[in-house]
Parts: sequence; C-alpha cells; structure tokens
Amino acid sequence: MHNKTLSELSEMLHKGEVTSVELTRHFLDRIKAHNTELNAFISVCEESALAQAAAADEQLKNKTAGKLTGIPMAHKDIFCTKGVRTSCASKMLDSFVSPYDATVVEKIAASGMVMLGKTNMDEFAMGSSNETSYYGPVKNPWDTDRVPGGSSGGSAAAVAARLAPIATGTDTGGSIRQPSSLCNLTGLKPTYGRISRYGMIAFASSLDQAGPMAANAEDAALLMNAMSGFDERDSTSVEREVPDYTATLNDSLEGLRIGLPKEYFGEGLDPQVAATIETAIKEFEKLGATIKEISLPNTHLAVPTYYVVAPAECSSNLSRMDGVRFGHRAENPRDLQDLYQRSRSEGFGAEVKRRIMIGTYVLSAGYYDAYYLKAQQCRRLISDEFQQAFNEVDVIMGPTAPTTAFKLGEKTDDPVAMYLADIYTISTNLAGLPGMSIPAGFAEGLPTGLQIIGNYFDEGRLLNIAHRYQQVTNWHKQVPAAFA
Ligand code: GLN
Repeated sequence: MHNKTLSELSEMLHKGEVTSVELTRHFLDRIKAHNTELNAFISVCEESALAQAAAADEQLKNKTAGKLTGIPMAHKDIFCTKGVRTSCASKMLDSFVSPYDATVVEKIAASGMVMLGKTNMDEFAMGSSNETSYYGPVKNPWDTDRVPGGSSGGSAAAVAARLAPIATGTDTGGSIRQPSSLCNLTGLKPTYGRISRYGMIAFASSLDQAGPMAANAEDAALLMNAMSGFDERDSTSVEREVPDYTATLNDSLEGLRIGLPKEYFGEGLDPQVAATIETAIKEFEKLGATIKEISLPNTHLAVPTYYVVAPAECSSNLSRMDGVRFGHRAENPRDLQDLYQRSRSEGFGAEVKRRIMIGTYVLSAGYYDAYYLKAQQCRRLISDEFQQAFNEVDVIMGPTAPTTAFKLGEKTDDPVAMYLADIYTISTNLAGLPGMSIPAGFAEGLPTGLQIIGNYFDEGRLLNIAHRYQQVTNWHKQVPAAFA
C-alpha cells in the first residue's frame, strides 16, 4: 500500500477499497517500526491523524471528498501547526506550540489530507545534511551510515522509506532539491512567491520557498495544486492564477530547448554523478528535446553571495527569539541583558550562532557596503544571466548536487565543504526561479538527482518534463530494500 501513487491511493479511497483510517494506521505503523532507526520525525500525531482520517472517511462516504481527501502526508517541522509543537529542530523552540496554522498547513488540511506528523530538519533550516538538528541527525534510508541531505532531510527520509506518501519541504538554498537528490525523490522548489510563507518560520525571507517532496512528478503536481496560490497574509506571495499542474503533465517535449551550463559540469562534480546526468540528458533527446551548451559565468559567485545574504536575513529574523516572547528562556536571569544573552546562548546550536554572527557583521555600519551591498549586486548579476540564458533555451539542466549522499560526520568540521553541497542549487534561490530535482540513476548504489531549472512560474513545465521522463524510466520507482 505504501508504494502506491497519490492517484492510486485516491482511487482506492473513493472506491471504498481502503478507508482513510486504515491507510493512516498503515503509515503510523510504518513510522513506529522505522523511525527509531531513521529519526525522520520529530513529532508523530497519532491521535489527531486518526481523527482527521475519520473525518475524511465521512466525506468519502458522503461523496463530498476531493482528490486528496484521506491521503496521509507529513509536514517539515518549520511550518506552524496549531496545537502541535513546531520546533524548527531547535532547542529554542522545543516547547513551542503554535497558536495558528501556516497557510500551507491550512490549505493542505482543506484539501482533506491527513497530517501524520512533523519531520526532522536542520536547525532553522541551516544545513545540508540534517546534522544540525537539536533532535539528532536523520539517517538516509539508502544507507543509514549516510546523511539524507538537508535541510529537509526528515521529509526526504520519510518519503524515501515510504513512512509517508508525500511531504512538504522548504528550500532557501537547496533544501528541497538536495535531499531529494540524495534520497531518490522528486522535489520542487517553486518560483519565489508562488506559495505563501505565512506561518513558515523565516530563515532568509527573500529566498525561502515551500514545495512538495514526492515519490514522482504526478504526486508533486497534486500537492502543488493544494499548496499554491496568493495569500494576503504574505506580502511577497504573488497574485496570479494557479493552473491545474496535472493538466499539462503529458504535454509533448518535442522541440523543447534544454541548456546545459558548462559551469555545472566542471571541477568538483563526481564523475559517476556526471555520467548518470549525461545518460538522463540523452533520454530527453529521444523525447524530442534539443540540447545546447550555455554559460552562466557568475555561478562561482553564488555560494559566497548566498552566505552574505542568507546570514544577514537570518540574523534579523532570529532576533525575535530573545527569551521574552518565544521559546527557550534562561533560568534566574540577573537582568534583561543576561536574559537575552543566556537564552540565546543556550537555545541556539553552533551553526545557527555562526550564521547570526556573520549576518550581524555584514550588516554592521562600516561593513554594509563592502559585504551586503556587494552581495545584492552579485545577486542581480546572477538573476540577469539566467534571463539571458532563457532567451536561448526553455529550461536548464544539470546535476542537483555534486556528489551522492556523504557519510554522517564527514563534513561537520568543515562548514565550507558543507556549503558547497548546494553549489548547483543556490543560484536559483538568489534569482527566485523554480527548480526541481528528479531521480536520475545510481552511483555505487546511491541515488543521484537531475536538476531542472525553469523561468519564473514555469512549474507546470518542469513537472511536465519530469513526468515524461518518468514515463520512460524507472529510477523514481526504486525503493531502498530495507523499506520496500
Ligand atoms: N544548505 C543551505 C544552508 O545551509 C540551504 C539550506 C536551505 O535551503 N534551507 O543555508
């Protein structure tokens, strides 16, 4: 039952072959059996999930159910969920129970889906390996000595091990796509503004975007339908109609112009990963696409630019966590200064503190022009060169990540090596463009991901391209043997 697509599950529910309560129990049992090993969930919501499932069964009985009604899913623990702990994997918010739902949570609940629980992640979404979580690292179901990627590593492991049919993630510099690549999933980071950020705990507000982490492109399209749309509570959400993302899944790829940036195939890319990507590209040629080499010459600026912009925004966003209003509060403070200092010293982990210090530094008087202003200029150059590329090609393809999943602990002492895990994903966040990762094969038994980058609001086209590829390949159907 856990290897079925959302459409198949929906059909079974609507035909009465299974009830939502049965389906929900099935996944809750799988979580019970495997979560100790994988650590994919921070909170499991058994009681409320079964209550939601019972309500879904009523709707199914009354014939008022929609396509997604009764299907279980999981949320990254960055989305506020009313009455349920929302920790962002930080000691700071370990005891925080949100008084309201994020828009994404509200919309997915309105579609009738059942929330199984909240998934583990890097603390405040800062990381590429899910090792900065206060609740401990997540293990990659393909090899439990290895990381699942980050920051949405819990969602990735949960879907890869089929502990949930689908999950939400967020992506500030690669956190949907990179773990999707390392865990053999189909993950989509939409255009900035496509999905509301209301109630999604802010890391770097000008880069953060939510999206689906799925077993295949059709499932991702279905969740996109439920998640997307304008929200007056988020001033950066875009007022633009949401297409039915499933309607164009089967469009022809005849004449599609694919650009391959030479900068995405250079030094640092594992040759075995490169080989799987080249094979995937050939598949697209067979489907009627044409291939063109392009250049994105400022790619090397993306990681340094990001590590000025993202820390700057996070230092500002995280200032609200002061021991007064939210979360962790130090005991017996001497005075207000002591309360701030100790609450924050105790509540935040090392990577979060590093980012806050970098951010505070680059925004400080005297350094602002040298760092923050320069970074904004680089960001503009990066966006502009994507737009130039889109004059010549429809989409851009390349690897999602330079390597397959690395060993736990391998990069924890070297932040810069960790930051380079996002070298191919970060530019699209800086430009606000949609990007997707799809399973592209295996290197020494570990999954690799093909990245597809589109122009603004081209999510439908990305899903179409992914779906057509998945009609002629089986990579996305592979499940780690221990969890099959
Ligand atoms: N790995 C990047 C970082 O640590 C991106 C994280 C993300 O997309 N949330 O900031």
